[in-house]
Amino acid sequence: MMSLTKLLVLAICAFIVWKLFAGDKRWKENKAKEQKEDLVASGEMVKDPVCGAYVSRHGDIRVRHGDVVLHFCSYECREQYLKRLEGEGGGKDGDAQA
Ligand SMILES: [Zn+2]
Repeated sequence: MMSLTKLLVLAICAFIVWKLFAGDKRWKENKAKEQKEDLVASGEMVKDPVCGAYVSRHGDIRVRHGDVVLHFCSYECREQYLKRLEGEGGGKDGDAQA
C-alpha cells in the first residue's frame, strides 16, 4: 500500500507543478499585454490608421503628413492610406483645378 500513497503524492506534485506552469503562462500573457499597453501609452507603439494594428514607432513603413508621422503595419496599408488621401483630394493647390 506504500506505493499507492507514493503515487498519490506524485500525482499531487504533478498537479501543483502543472498549476504553477499554467499560472506562470497566464501571468506572462498578462505581463506582455501590460507591456504593450505601456508602450502604447508612452507612444512607443502607434496605431495603424488603416487596419488599427499597433506598430512600433521605429518602424520603417511610415508617411509624413504635415507635422504628423503615421506608421503602418505593411506597405499595403500605407498604399491604402495614400490612395484614400488622393481620393479625398484635400485642398492641394495646382492639381486638377477646373
Ligand atoms: Zn495595417
